[in-house]
Amino acid sequence: MPPRRLLLTPGPTPVPPEVLRAQAEPLFHHRTAEYQKLFEEVSRGLQRIFKTRSPVYTFTASGTGAMEASLVNFHSAGDEILVVDAGKFGERFWRIAKAHALKAQILKVPYGKAVSPAEIEEAVSKNPNLKSVCLQLCETSTGVVFDLKEIGRRLRGKNCLLIVDAISGLAADRFEMDAWGIDLAISGSQKGLMLPPGLAFLAVGERARQQMTGAMLPRFYFDLALYEKALKDWDTPFTPAISLVVGLKEALRRIEKEGLEKILKRSETLAEYTRGEVRKMGLELFAERPSNGVTAMKVPAEIDGEKILYEIREKEGITLAGGQGEMKGEIIRIAHMGFIQKEDIDCGLRALETALQKKGTQQR
Ligand SMILES: *Cc1c(COP(=O)(O)O)cnc(C)c1O
Repeated sequence: MPPRRLLLTPGPTPVPPEVLRAQAEPLFHHRTAEYQKLFEEVSRGLQRIFKTRSPVYTFTASGTGAMEASLVNFHSAGDEILVVDAGKFGERFWRIAKAHALKAQILKVPYGKAVSPAEIEEAVSKNPNLKSVCLQLCETSTGVVFDLKEIGRRLRGKNCLLIVDAISGLAADRFEMDAWGIDLAISGSQKGLMLPPGLAFLAVGERARQQMTGAMLPRFYFDLALYEKALKDWDTPFTPAISLVVGLKEALRRIEKEGLEKILKRSETLAEYTRGEVRKMGLELFAERPSNGVTAMKVPAEIDGEKILYEIREKEGITLAGGQGEMKGEIIRIAHMGFIQKEDIDCGLRALETALQKKGTQQR
């Protein structure tokens, strides 16, 4: 028996055994009718998860690849964009923008807080040059979910793309790309979709698509024109991660079998349960508007959060997430998305409780 390994991190997340098994099947070639059939099936399945009628493109990349694709295909150097920075992943958006010589206006939100839809509307109304607004569905680093429905409503009719990084939020927090007026939606394989890392997804709405030809930023690997042409034949321009796509089919089958609605409901219930247990342990929750995919809690002042996580991982084989950047050592995060079950959460929380108690006694 290999040692127990329980992943309770908001990416990567545990992969169901039938998905792992599907990925272990012998390879077949991708320039075949067999692959086209598979790719059509998964691409259509992804549209149902994003809740969109627009095409969803699959890249062999981690999620950040699709974030980059969402900027380079729709902008030119010097374009002004608004980036909501409420944590590590908002920050990543403006770093990508900076690397491509975009002028990013940053809407800074304190860690643990949600961006105010009114503030976004105001910023967009004040600056008619803004080409797009970039933000997360769930800012995974703080465990906050943004009110994308309301943000979409307020930006309706404005001449500005709404770009949403739903990498951790998808299939955990409610998300409706078309109904909410979202132009570009991004996700990745290793979070709610229950796959290993390696696939990134970008759903491209019609309004965004029309801006592609005028967008002059250099691009090659992520040039959507190539993917668009290939997708007409349910194909990809470059060698796809065939095994991961086979796994994706299995993961989507699992999602459809349970039903997306039920999954969202289950995530909500599990998130509420987790928050309740965290409060019972005497810990304070970190997110003002908590996501259903991940719960962040504050580490008591006298305790080093990173040490606690190290101990739990080494002794129990359970991986929880710490804080990133300035939040390092200050918060602990536990995921309850995808294949993570209530029993897993219980294991994680009990291990955390024990470790905290021990530290408390040692320090007294
Ligand atoms: C995980 C995650 C990413 C992407 O990270 P990769 O390491 O590139 O897969 C981006 N944004 C959010 C909100 C995430 O949770």
